Amino acid sequence: MSNQYTPKPSINERELRGHAIAQNFGWVRRVDETVYMVHSQKFDREYQVVQTEIGWVCECPDAKYRGLKCKHSWAVEISWEMRKRVESQITIEAVRVDNCPRCRSALVVRHSVRHNRSGDLQRYSCKGCGLRFSKNLGFESMRVNPQAITQALQLYFTGESLRNVQKFLRLQGVNVSHVSVLKWIRKYVSLMEGYVSQITPQVGNTWRTDELYLKVKGDMKYLFAMMDDETRFWIAQQVSDKKGTSDVRPMFREAEKRAGKRPKVLISDGAPNFARANKKEWYSRHPERNTVHVPDIRLGGEVHNNKMERLNGEIRDREQNFRGLKTPDSPILKGYQLFHNYVRPHEGLGGRTPSEAAGVKVEGEDKWKTLIQNAARGPKVNTENSEEDGPSS
Ligand SMILES: [Zn+2]
Ligand SMILES: [Zn+2]
Repeated sequence: MSNQYTPKPSINERELRGHAIAQNFGWVRRVDETVYMVHSQKFDREYQVVQTEIGWVCECPDAKYRGLKCKHSWAVEISWEMRKRVESQITIEAVRVDNCPRCRSALVVRHSVRHNRSGDLQRYSCKGCGLRFSKNLGFESMRVNPQAITQALQLYFTGESLRNVQKFLRLQGVNVSHVSVLKWIRKYVSLMEGYVSQITPQVGNTWRTDELYLKVKGDMKYLFAMMDDETRFWIAQQVSDKKGTSDVRPMFREAEKRAGKRPKVLISDGAPNFARANKKEWYSRHPERNTVHVPDIRLGGEVHNNKMERLNGEIRDREQNFRGLKTPDSPILKGYQLFHNYVRPHEGLGGRTPSEAAGVKVEGEDKWKTLIQNAARGPKVNTENSEEDGPSS
């Protein structure tokens, strides 16, 4: 029985290959506004692509002798769109606690002192907006210092076990149980998750989806991931017992909601569940904006295959740490997604994080702290508009 559904492609093979080229870091070099050098997919050379009145024109044989819009021109056009997206960057600033963390008013007065196990905590109140806060914004209820908590998050998500995190903290003079460490992780991941879910990453038009196996309390589960190919931003995840169409559909919905769009191209291992979910969630509701589902063998490029493999590897290395997972939607996996997107620099992105590549920059030495404190001060995200760079009127 074959009911694998293939929507009519709204994208041609050259455009597809253009996407593949544009997503290889360094393969599209901008010389200036009108001249680009594009790496050949087959040979170790570059082709020059120049902007003209009729669009981008390439010097490769495909363009020269066949008069076609070649994959290199497509790659330039796609990179150009990518640049535009990154220019509309959102900055998540480190929270400065000398002013009011919510409205930034400097009219801040001492309010009261709260006593807890770790000592006295001065509280302030803002004359501007009425917010009451301490300089430990986001960490007030904790009996350890903020740094111990963000270090614990960092160690855990780089692959240390809870017990190793606990040992490390003890060396720093912080005595907590490994159960407490897990509680911190759960608490702060939920807080940050609520915050970042309001931010739309500027992802590209080629996404990739795959499945990983995961042991949760001894049971095998499937972890599905939807990633943007260009920025490596991990858009959505889904954990389930089975791998049917209905098991992956929620991830398609979630990914569209998070990204505020759906991709032109979806690459997968070709499993029919993804094809059917694409048809049911995306195609049937908006056939005019269909997403072409491409099994990765059609693209052939090993770079493409490696991207998901790498995420598989990252998760597998930490699998033993996920033993503590209680429910399929455990904050631990969401935490790993946060770490992957917002904290961890990526070699394939020239040392940027996927969120930076997707136009969301998290400032500060300690990105965990920045995220936690922004989440704690309320829902407002500071958008830095590129207009500010222009002449003021
Ligand atoms: Zn060309
Ligand atoms: Zn205020």
